Amino acid sequence: MENTENPDTKQDEYEKICYVCRRPESKAGKMIDMPNNMHICADCMQRAFDTLNNNTVNYNDLFKNMHMPDLSMYNMNEEQMMSEFAPKQKIKKKTENKNEIDLKSVPAPKQIKAMLDEYVIGQDKAKKAMSVAVYNHYKRIADIEARSGKESENDVEIEKSNMLMIGPTGSGKTYLVKTLAKLLQVPLAITDATSLTEAGYIGDDIESVVSKLLAAADNDVSKAEHGIIFIDEIDKIAKKKGTRSRDVNGESVQQGMLKLLEGSNVEVPVGASSKNAMVPLVTVNTSNILFICGGAFPDLEEIIKSRLTNQSSIGFNSSLKDAFDDDDDIFAKVSSEDLREYGMIPEFLGRLPICFSLKGLSKEILVDIMCKPKNAIVKQYVKLLDMDGVKLEFENDALELIAQKALEKKTGARAIRSILEDYMMDVMYEIPKDDTIGKVIITADYIEGKGSPRILMRTYEPVQTAGGAY
Ligand code: ADP
Repeated sequence: MENTENPDTKQDEYEKICYVCRRPESKAGKMIDMPNNMHICADCMQRAFDTLNNNTVNYNDLFKNMHMPDLSMYNMNEEQMMSEFAPKQKIKKKTENKNEIDLKSVPAPKQIKAMLDEYVIGQDKAKKAMSVAVYNHYKRIADIEARSGKESENDVEIEKSNMLMIGPTGSGKTYLVKTLAKLLQVPLAITDATSLTEAGYIGDDIESVVSKLLAAADNDVSKAEHGIIFIDEIDKIAKKKGTRSRDVNGESVQQGMLKLLEGSNVEVPVGASSKNAMVPLVTVNTSNILFICGGAFPDLEEIIKSRLTNQSSIGFNSSLKDAFDDDDDIFAKVSSEDLREYGMIPEFLGRLPICFSLKGLSKEILVDIMCKPKNAIVKQYVKLLDMDGVKLEFENDALELIAQKALEKKTGARAIRSILEDYMMDVMYEIPKDDTIGKVIITADYIEGKGSPRILMRTYEPVQTAGGAY
């Protein structure tokens, strides 16, 4: 009977594996084909040549290292040779489009916002803008994947919705992105623009942001290509004013990022942050990666205010010079003109079409942040003490005093944790494993330093009020 199966097509289902380092072709790059179905990657081939050139080579050792039989193979007959070289480990080739986006599985903007609401307090405008942009981003990917291969002249191409987030420090920029990536279950890489420099200078190459994403995606290229990259402190790469030297970590970084933001193929090292001869490279296409840039943009308020006052200083509607001084949401009025004046180049801004701002946090919001989110810090302390069978309560006034102290530190919600940690230290030290204690109430007096927390015994008889030692 005739065998209809074509051995070549069967072979094609499997990836080639390097005989020396055992990496598959998808990781090690194009293989060099050797006789008898043997393949060697370019790195190992180079290493073999280097060793030979050193003249100190012991061929038997070399071949042993290469997982090859020693030179006695020349005495083998063809059958023995084939069995020696037959591939011992086969890795199925990754099926293309394994991580294809199914639009039905992407939650609608309203759902994304509702999910964000559970974790992030306030910042409604930012959450809304982000939900819509993310949804459109995944719609765009689904559209590209659906159209791939089918060229049609009147197709409308959806543009990328990379985002720029402006907001004071500690207002929840990073937290928002982290929560989003967790909810969408996509890989996320967070980098700081301050460490980036033009290629060839001390610092991280711009492309290192992509290799971080690849690491977050467990080196799965197709997963990384649908991920999110958050670049924080983007204001630090603003064009330096009045400098005559080459601006290697300002304007040049913005220039270098243009192609990345728009979508290009970048060669990134696998499992390392810098390229060198020994690290294998893979190509990652950034066109479907969502880039979110964030920054506090200190002093941008002044630029916005002066533009607004200049605009409205003529005519009947002219306003006073200090009319915008008390505006607590001045960032919401930002225009690309202001950002250009700040030092961002127009081409860079053009690649971040969605721009929104986050508000500085008020006292009331800080109190909510302490109590309301799913993993609110107060809920965490309650849980910790509950494990020892002790109830924990905070007086409202106490929470407000803590929020006030956090406001004074001017680092947004970030200050809350360290302040609370200070007050809770004694409680967490004294209370656990004391069987007589049933409940602890953190009072305003305790926060003001006028007393101790109120302790209730297991029978819930108050044994001591604020002012005494416990
Ligand atoms: P930044 O804006 O400087 O990136 P972060 O996102 O790092 O600030 O915020 C610091 C911490 O403050 C977060 O880890 C989070 O716990 C808390 N936080 C900040 N803003 C909010 C918010 N709106 N809702 C809930 N928690 C918040």
